Amino acid sequence: MSDVMARLRELQSADLPVHGGRTLAYVYDSGLAEVDRVGREAVAAYAGSNGLDPTAFPSLLQMENDVVGFAADLLDAPATAVGTVSSGGTESVLLAVQSARDSRPSVVRPNIVVPSTVHAAFHKAAHYFGVELRMVPVGADFRADPAAMAAATDDSTVLVVASAPSYAHGVVDPVGAVAALALERGIRCHVDACIGGWVLPYAARLGRDVAPWTFAVEGVTSISVDLHKYGYAPKGTSVLLHRTPGHRRPQFFASADWPGYTMLNSTMQSTKSGGPLAGAWAVLQTLGDDGYLRLSRDVFEAVDRIVAGITAPLRVVVPPDSTLVALATDDSCDPFTICDEMAARGWYVQPQMSYAGQPATVHLSVSAATLPAVGEFLAALSQAVAAAVAAGPVAVDPEVAAFIESLDPAALTDDDFDGLLAASGLVGSSGSAAGDGLALPERMAEVNAMLDLASPAMREALLVAFLDRLSRPVRGAAGGPAGGPTPL
Ligand SMILES: *Cc1c(COP(=O)(O)O)cnc(C)c1O
Repeated sequence: MSDVMARLRELQSADLPVHGGRTLAYVYDSGLAEVDRVGREAVAAYAGSNGLDPTAFPSLLQMENDVVGFAADLLDAPATAVGTVSSGGTESVLLAVQSARDSRPSVVRPNIVVPSTVHAAFHKAAHYFGVELRMVPVGADFRADPAAMAAATDDSTVLVVASAPSYAHGVVDPVGAVAALALERGIRCHVDACIGGWVLPYAARLGRDVAPWTFAVEGVTSISVDLHKYGYAPKGTSVLLHRTPGHRRPQFFASADWPGYTMLNSTMQSTKSGGPLAGAWAVLQTLGDDGYLRLSRDVFEAVDRIVAGITAPLRVVVPPDSTLVALATDDSCDPFTICDEMAARGWYVQPQMSYAGQPATVHLSVSAATLPAVGEFLAALSQAVAAAVAAGPVAVDPEVAAFIESLDPAALTDDDFDGLLAASGLVGSSGSAAGDGLALPERMAEVNAMLDLASPAMREALLVAFLDRLSRPVRGAAGGPAGGPTPL
C-alpha cells in the first residue's frame, strides 16, 4: 500500500504545486497548514458518505445548512434566502440558468442576457439547456453596460447576469443597475460571485471601495460563490443562494417514475461524495469570520503591492476591484513568452488569449499565501519580462497564420486536425497522443501565439481535438485484467 502512495506522490510531483503561493490560477492557498490539514482530513473522513439521501446521512444535511447559512450571512441575504452546496462554480451556474429557464415553462425559446465578459460556464449552461445566450459588449471600463443589456432583453429573457468580479479582468459589474433593469421587467438576476463572493464582503469591511452587489441590492435573485476558491476549501464546493424557496424550487428534481428508490436531487449529481462538503465545513469552522478577514487583508495587501510594482512594458489592464489582475504588454514582447519565462522561474501565471479587439493578457489570481513572496514574484516578473523582450514577440509564420485564419473549423476532418495538431506542436505526428505521441511542449508560447491568431470557434475545435487525443485509455496496465484491446 505504501508503494501505491509512493507512486501517487511520484505522479503528483509533475503537477503544479497547490501550496506556496506561486501558482496564480487554479489553486487558492491560505498559506495556513492547519487549515489545509483540517480540510484534507475532513474530506478523507467523508469520502465514502453519500450526499444522495440527507435522511440517511443527516450530518451532511446539517453541514450543508451550516455552510449555506454562513454564505447567506456573508452576502446580506434576507431571512427568506435558501441555498444549495454544489460541486463547483460551473454546477452553481448551470443550476442558476436551469432554474431560471424552468421557472418560465411557457417560454418556448428562452434567452439569457449576459455581459461579454461573463464566465464561459454560462456558455456551457446555454449549450446544455437549449437557452440562447445574448452576449452584450462591455463598456470601455470592462464592466457590463446596463442600458445595452436592457435593450437586449425581451419577453423570452429568463435571466440577466452580472459578475462580481469577472474572471478575465477582475472588475465588478454595475450590479445595482443590472438588477434594477431585471426587476423592472420581472426577470431573474444572477450575480456570478464564484470567485469574488468570499473576499469582496471582507474587502468592504476593510474599507475598500466596493460597489454594492450582494442581496442588499434589490432585484438580485441568486448568487453563486465558490468555497474552493477564496473560501480556501478543498476542491469540489460552491454555494448557490436563492432569494426565496420559490426561486430555488425549479432546481430540485424528483423522479418516482421507475421501480427503484424515489430519486430526489438538489443538484446535477445524484450519488455524491460527502467529502468536499465536509472539507468546506471544516475549513469554515477553522477559519471563521475573523480568519477570512485576516486572509482578505493579506490577499489585498498582496494585490496592492503587485499592482504598484508593475512597470513598463507591462501595464495593469484595469485597476482590479478584487483579487484578480490582468496584465498586458506592448509590442516589445508577448504575454505568452512571459508566462513561459515565469514557469521557468517556478511561478504559474495564466495566459489569456486576445478577444474582441482586446490584447492577450497575463492573468493572476492572487492568494493570501502569495503575500510573503510578493517581492520574489515581482523580481521574477521583471526577469521574465526582460527575457521576453530579449526574445522578442513570437513570430508565427505569415503563411501559417493566413492558413489558420482561412480555416472553417466546422468543415475540418479528423485527419485535418491530426495535421494541424502536429503542425502546432501540440501532439506528435503519429496522431495518437497517448504514449509516444503525447509530448506536451516545454514552452507553450509558440502554441499559444498560434492559437491566438485563430478565431474563438477554431480555438475551441483545435482544443477539443487535442483533448480527444490526450484522453486515451492505457490498456493492459499493470494490476488490471490480462489482455489488451479486442481485435477489430
Ligand atoms: C471559477 C469561476 C466559475 C466556474 O467555477 P468552477 O469552480 O471552475 O466550475 C464561474 N464564474 C466565475 C466568475 C469564476 O471565476
